[in-house]
Amino acid sequence: MAEVRLTGVNKHYAGVQALHGISLTIEDGEFAVFVGPSGCGKSTLLRSIAGLEDISGGQIRIGDRDVTQAAPSERDVAMVFQSYALYPHMTVRENMDFGMKVNNFAPADRQRRIAEAARILQLEPYLDRKPAQLSGGQRQRVAIGRAIVKEPKVFLFDEPLSNLDAKLRVQMRVELEALHRDLKATMIYVTHDQVEAMTMADKIVVLNAGRIEQVGAPMDLYHRPASEFVAGFIGAPAMNLLPVTLAGGQALLDGLTLGPAPEGTVKLGIRPEHIALRPAGQGTLPATVTLRETLGGDAYLYVRLNSGVPMVVRAEGDTPLDHGAEAGLDLPPARLHHFAADGRRLTAGGAA
Ligand code: ADP
Ligand code: MG
Repeated sequence: MAEVRLTGVNKHYAGVQALHGISLTIEDGEFAVFVGPSGCGKSTLLRSIAGLEDISGGQIRIGDRDVTQAAPSERDVAMVFQSYALYPHMTVRENMDFGMKVNNFAPADRQRRIAEAARILQLEPYLDRKPAQLSGGQRQRVAIGRAIVKEPKVFLFDEPLSNLDAKLRVQMRVELEALHRDLKATMIYVTHDQVEAMTMADKIVVLNAGRIEQVGAPMDLYHRPASEFVAGFIGAPAMNLLPVTLAGGQALLDGLTLGPAPEGTVKLGIRPEHIALRPAGQGTLPATVTLRETLGGDAYLYVRLNSGVPMVVRAEGDTPLDHGAEAGLDLPPARLHHFAADGRRLTAGGAA
């Protein structure tokens, strides 16, 4: 096990700068998740840590070693890819054994490690099958098994669950969390799915266009997003962002006062689950329901304010409100986030 420390990591491809000065520490034994939209540099950063990409500048340390120039095989890491990358002509056992065999591990050691990985991943009944005879979830478990037998200091996962159906994804998510608990290893997990990030991470690293937007525990990012980007990315449905004007230290929308706001505020943010729904004629903001999405316990009401600004409000699943209904909205001041023109979050007025 080991901590991973990145200092000023840059990566240029021909004509593209994929990473801009990434500095970050992942603690020993931590489950860190890199999250962000497609193309933001998640895989490039992970592959740089693995040594599969040469970086253009900066330093990478794993444990007490500077591995910036080290070959992948010398970094004590194991990577699991979305595509599984199993050898189709080999059995499960042979797939897990292959890397150890070419590296001349002792046969007894190889057997012990395969047995241990198979036990942890519940692959014992399938050791003599070939990948084609396995389900997608089982194949991904074999790919994880191949990483476990290396007993690496750091596990690197690049969107390992993206090819699985929704139910299996949830199941594998729980299994990976249990695996992390059992192995107590440092794990870095890349995903574009904010739900995976929220549920699995000790630490989330939000990336945007090759830069770190914010690093923090899941609930820190939820309660105190550093920017409009993070506010919109973490939490589903996304935080509502309302354009406001300032007068006398108060934020105004549609001529109505929404509450105190710090100098420089151009947008107010509020999450769908933090809006209080009132009967028509009550509440601060009159709204008209344009669409209702019922999930069971909850319903999401897509509403429109008088000025046409759209919002999403969480309601009880059995709310009678539906398309065309009128309602009032209250926005509790403590739940408001204030954003400046450059997207940074302003911290004053009780929302810090
Ligand atoms: P993500 O994994 O977040 O979707 P990537 O790390 O794959 O993003 O890519 C980050 C950026 O680097 C993108 O603009 C992508 O087009 C570019 N990129 C990735 N790999 C290469 C490559 N081998 N050559 C040139 N550009 C690349
Ligand atoms: Mg990627």
